[in-house]
Amino acid sequence: MNAASTCDHEPANRTIRTRSYYSFWGWFALLFGVTVLPTRIDRICRRCGTIVTSTTDPEELRKEA
Ligand SMILES: [Zn+2]
Repeated sequence: MNAASTCDHEPANRTIRTRSYYSFWGWFALLFGVTVLPTRIDRICRRCGTIVTSTTDPEELRKEA
């Protein structure tokens, strides 16, 4: 993988988007409008699609939610 040469995917960069993953019960709760913490959040570079960071740390998840 040579993506680093075409793009700098800094976590603070504007090209980074986040993707949240929820457990089955998390999705179920969301259907009812209940706020739930994701089980995992990936930060993905919009330009090259590289997953820059991935966290399952509850402290980090709370900040992003
Ligand atoms: Zn990138």
